[in-house]
Order: sequence, then structure tokens, then C-alpha cells
Amino acid sequence: MRAEIIAVGSELLTPYRWDSNSLFLTEKLQEMGIQVAYKTVVGDNREDLHKALKDAAKRANVIIMTGGLGPTEDDLTREAVANFLKRELRMDEGILDSIRHFFKSHSMKMPEINLRQAFVIEGGTVLENPFGTAPGQWIDAGQTKFALLPGPPSEMKPMVEHHLLPLLAPFAGHRLLTKTLKTVGLGESAVEERVSDLVTGLKNPIFTILAQPGEVEIDLTLKEKEKEEGGEARLEKLFAAIVERLQENIFTFRRQETLEEAVVSILKEKGLHLSLAESCTGGLISHRITDVPGSSEVFETGYTVYGTPAKVRLLGVSQETLDRCGVVSRETALEMAEGAKREAGSDYALGVTGIAGPTGGTEETPVGSVWIALAGPSGSTATFYHFIGERERVKRSASQAALTLLWKELKNGGKG
Ligand code: ATP
Ligand code: MG
Repeated sequence: MRAEIIAVGSELLTPYRWDSNSLFLTEKLQEMGIQVAYKTVVGDNREDLHKALKDAAKRANVIIMTGGLGPTEDDLTREAVANFLKRELRMDEGILDSIRHFFKSHSMKMPEINLRQAFVIEGGTVLENPFGTAPGQWIDAGQTKFALLPGPPSEMKPMVEHHLLPLLAPFAGHRLLTKTLKTVGLGESAVEERVSDLVTGLKNPIFTILAQPGEVEIDLTLKEKEKEEGGEARLEKLFAAIVERLQENIFTFRRQETLEEAVVSILKEKGLHLSLAESCTGGLISHRITDVPGSSEVFETGYTVYGTPAKVRLLGVSQETLDRCGVVSRETALEMAEGAKREAGSDYALGVTGIAGPTGGTEETPVGSVWIALAGPSGSTATFYHFIGERERVKRSASQAALTLLWKELKNGGKG
């Protein structure tokens, strides 16, 4: 079984919106062993849609389309598939009722144009959409099956879970078994070097390594078929060996978990509080921490002290230190962290000061120079970093390094 995804919508061909639906779909299909061979993004255009369908039908047994099921003139998916299959579109009274009901229960009057959404391709099965007005459709056209799903992720996802996956179940292949770990504090090549003798030439399970600034992810993937032949035990054993080599640097075994989530969860576990003093990261670390639901339990205050006077006024950094050592210095970072810890009354505080660029660098302190201090119950430390890249990347890397420092401290017995 080979699947293809066609994401429909001219907005997906602009820099402002991107096709995230297919990421969700590929994850779900991969889990059930259905391979996604192609993905296409196509605008709201009749000819382009027809061409995309024609190409896809040559290659795939299942074509999953998202978007373009809305009520407006530019929503062409239903019509395009009907034309392609040379089938009629028929008004479905049941759908019409549920659309009417949807509007009524939201205290709205149904616009005439929503009638369009009640049309079903001849022979198609309706997939209910409790979260919107556009129902999905499933058309079994023999060789090729078509799924038409709404564009809004909040409508598409539940429809996939409740309706599409059960329809695809008969075509499921070998389920994939995946083991994941994510590390901080080591570069990609350092991680690779530590495990290379274990994974070189490995075919089954498949070994993949993915890096982004300050973070490396390792995945081992095995097909269920192999599991029957003792593959699962092999997977477990290999994974355990890899874990042993990287132990100190692994912050999670869950692919979706972020470093900030791991940090918040240890802080919660230990009943500890964090505060932040951010200069060059401009609140990015606060933002990352507060992205984690429930972080209010461990985080009360972050100081964005971008200007020098604010460092003095809000955190008590001494003017003498600033004059003597400079704004980007070990001493300033330490006084920032200690000031935040004192003012907020927290157990831990991070202080970050540096030059994100593109201007402001000097020979002594070039762009990308960042001092990060960690103040805790048993004293303070500061570390110097030199990050490469553009302003945004330097900020991101600095936030990552700061969270890594804290995570390591907490993991190594950080106490209240
Ligand atoms: P509606 O009834 O809301 O019009 P629709 O099926 O016509 O549903 P679209 O109009 O194509 O869907 O898209 C509606 C919203 O869903 C838009 O905000 C769009 O950006 C988003 N969306 C559409 N396709 C995708 C996609 N592939 N990935 C992420 N978001 C998407
Ligand atoms: Mg639309």
C-alpha cells in the first residue's frame, strides 16, 4: 500500500502558511506501516488540481487530500475529484441537516453558499465533522481510494483518528516500532562518534540521527515483521547500549518532549522555583518556559533587562562591575543571575548577557559571545559561549544553552 498526500490551498504556497496537516498524516500512516511516497501542495486551481490527481493516481493506492472543502468558490476539492473520477456530485439531505444543526447550535444563520458542502461524490462515504461544517469523504474507486479531509487541523485530526484510520486498517503494513532519545550538551558528531561502532552498517533497525542547534535526536526504527524474529529484543538491547553511552546527556525518551518541558517537569518534581534575568535573549527563555502548561507552579518572574540601567535598577548589578568588566562578562552574568534569584526569591536563576548581532561586536567580544550564569542554592557558576549564525539563531542557541545548564544541574542532584 502506497499513499500520497495532496494539500490543497493557495495560501499554502505563500510564505505565511505551511502544510502541517501532512506531518500529522505521515506520522499516523507510518505508525500503521503505510508508506507515504509523495506529498504535493497545490493551489486552488482547477487545472492544477486535476493534474495533481492524475499524477497521484498513477503512483498511489490511497490519495489523501486536505483542504478546499469549504463553502466558497475557491474550494474545489469535491468538484475536482468528482470530475477526475467522472462521477456525479449529489446533494445529501443528512449532511444538509447536520450543517443546519451546526449553524443553529452556534446561534448562526446558515449562509446559502454552505449548501455546497452538502454535496457528496457518487458512491462516497461521508466522514462526520463535529468540529466544523465541511464533512469529509471516502471514495473507494477500486485500484485507488480517495480521502477528502477538511483543511483546518482542528477538524482534520479528529476525523483522521475516528474515521480515516479505521478505513485504512485493512491495508496496514508492518507496524513500525520506534525508540527515541534526545540529548543536549553534545554536538552531532560527538554523539555519532560515541555510538558509531554500535550502529555502523545497521540495516534493521534503522538508525537515524537528527541535529538542531544544541540538541541531537536519535531514532531506532524496526518493522514489526522483524519483531517476530526476535527483532524487538535486538532493538531493546541496542537501544540500551546507546543509552549507556549517552546517559549524562539524555533529557528525554519522548520525541515530542522539549527541553523546556523536561526542565519544568524536574523543577516540579523537586518543588523548586526558577527565575530568569535575560538580556540578549530578550525573554525567549521565559517564553519557552511559559509555553509549557502548568509552568506557573515553578516559574513566577522573568526579568528582561535589555538595557544597562535596567540591569542596575531591577537586579542590583553594580555600576562598578559594569564599568570594570563590561556588560558582556562573567561578572555581569553572575550578578544578573544572583540579582534575579534574590529579587524573585527563587531557588535557581539564570542570567544571560551577550551580543546577538549583527552589530555591536568588538574584536574582544565578537557577535555571538554570550555569558550564561546559573545561581542556585549552593552557589553560582558562569560559562562562556560563542555561538555562530544570525541574530535569531544566536538567541535560540543561548536559550538552549541556558536551559541545558539548568537541566544538568537539576539532574545532578540540584536541591532546594
Ligand atoms: P473550511 O470549511 O474552513 O473552508 P476547507 O476544507 O476549505 O475548510 P481550507 O479553506 O483549505 O479548508 O483551509 C482552512 C484553514 O485550514 C486555513 O486557515 C488553512 O490555512 C488551514 N489549512 C488548510 N490546509 C492546511 C494544511 N495542509 N496544513 C495546515 N493548515 C491547513
Ligand atoms: Mg477553503
